[in-house]
Amino acid sequence: MRLFTTIAGLRCYLGLHRQGKNVGFVPTMGALHAGHISLIEGARSHNDIVIVSIFVNPLQFGPSEDFQQYPRSLEQDRQLCQQARVDAIFAPSAEELYGSGTGDWGLEIGVARLPIPDSQSPISTTVLPPENMTSVLCGRFRPGHFQGVATVVTKLLNLVQPNNAYFGEKDAQQLAIIRRLVADLNWSIKIVGCPIVREASGLALSSRNQYLTLEQKEQASVLYRSLQQAKKAFQSGDRDRAILIDTVQQEIAIVPEVQIEYIELVHPTTLMRLEKFEEAGLLAIAARLGSTRLIDNVVLRDRQPIVAIDGPAGAGKSTVARQVAKSLGLLYLDTGAMYRALTWLVLESGIRVDDEPSIAELASRSQIQLSTGDDPQITTRVWINDHDVTFAIRSLEVTAMVSAIAAQPYVRQELVKQQQRWGLKGGIVAEGRDIATHVFPDAELKIFLTASVHERAQRRQQDLKNQQQPNVSLVQLEQDIQERDTRDSTRVVAPLQKAADAILIETDGLGIAEVTARIVSLYHQKLSVSR
Ligand code: AMP
Repeated sequence: MRLFTTIAGLRCYLGLHRQGKNVGFVPTMGALHAGHISLIEGARSHNDIVIVSIFVNPLQFGPSEDFQQYPRSLEQDRQLCQQARVDAIFAPSAEELYGSGTGDWGLEIGVARLPIPDSQSPISTTVLPPENMTSVLCGRFRPGHFQGVATVVTKLLNLVQPNNAYFGEKDAQQLAIIRRLVADLNWSIKIVGCPIVREASGLALSSRNQYLTLEQKEQASVLYRSLQQAKKAFQSGDRDRAILIDTVQQEIAIVPEVQIEYIELVHPTTLMRLEKFEEAGLLAIAARLGSTRLIDNVVLRDRQPIVAIDGPAGAGKSTVARQVAKSLGLLYLDTGAMYRALTWLVLESGIRVDDEPSIAELASRSQIQLSTGDDPQITTRVWINDHDVTFAIRSLEVTAMVSAIAAQPYVRQELVKQQQRWGLKGGIVAEGRDIATHVFPDAELKIFLTASVHERAQRRQQDLKNQQQPNVSLVQLEQDIQERDTRDSTRVVAPLQKAADAILIETDGLGIAEVTARIVSLYHQKLSVSR
């Protein structure tokens, strides 16, 4: 693992090593804990190169905040990063990052020759996200904070130019603002939100927890309990803003040492105050315990569940997914049909299959609709730009072309966006290679369906026989499957992966009906636990 403290070192390293590889980036302020490590692990499992930055950004601290006291533990952080297989740490000084042309920061030698710039007196170009996102929630109490965050994140993203950047959902307002920043500036960087990591008591991990005594940590766990109470109220049907906020308030009131700064219910993407609950709400709290400021939140979602099934080719995913959807009365999100519909449109439009830019344009303008048909023979009806293509997408021309089009990164990006729009409403079963890890990481039930190479080869041989195709030897089929597995797990676009929280079902010796029944039963178990 490398440690760089200069922009020159980092740039040179990336210039030498990136060459077509995926770069994952985790920006932090150091004093690393298990929350940060979960972000790093996320980055490690999806990228070839992982960069972590450690930088206590003065621009995001107010003049009376804890910039000087903020915990700094570079040596320990270095060891943790090494254990987590980080490739390089970028730990610049404030002077290195913001430049000395505008004055000497005096921080590195401990002598404040000039006032330390902070969120009130920035001395560099400042990035200003929309005011309606920065002046609410924590922004009301920390003027200039999110401008400081947006400025440093912009600089770091420009330096690292990652494919994926990882942020914690604990800082939900920060995450929403960064998503907006990246969208507004048209960066093709994927911002990945990672779930909150908590102590056994429920207290969200934070570098600032170091300021708390053991007793205070116990007291602080009331924040999590209060959010859980509100979640319970929500799950039993309460949608009223006042009731949800009041539930949190009453629970926190049990611990008088915890002083509420705010309790708010906002839209998780726009951060607009929610008067009436729509499909999702972010219930967020900031509170003080002594001089320590703590934040926590929960996202409440009013949507039908999602079942995500991944697994290697030949494990029976699509047949099982159709059956599961039918048994549960959910929509089978036929992603294959979506790629076929786009292929049909490409052919209709007379665009050459290798004209990727034109296909990207077409994909970004297309609207695909799916619905469960009344006809039991048709599992899914498919429209693209209002053309009913349910039958047309099964033609030989489309079949011959679809895999070449599905392999184009922009096509995939666009169709994943459309799939995720379905995810907002939920009520779907979807299958693929990275449905649970990438497309619907918040699916209620994640299944990884697999079978031994031998079993899959036998099934394939049986399929060929049923279709009256020429016989292929078992040895040959096994070799083909093995090669396909290697290709699918190592491909750059959408590699096959098992989500950490997916349930593995080994289907050797099991029929479709048995596998379906098992998934349906897991679904009912999961839902009865989470309700
Ligand atoms: P910080 O070092 O506090 O700036 O945090 C760096 C990144 O780690 C941010 O994206 C945080 O949201 C994330 N993070 C901090 N605490 C947690 C946690 N308990 N769970 C998940 N992510 C976290």
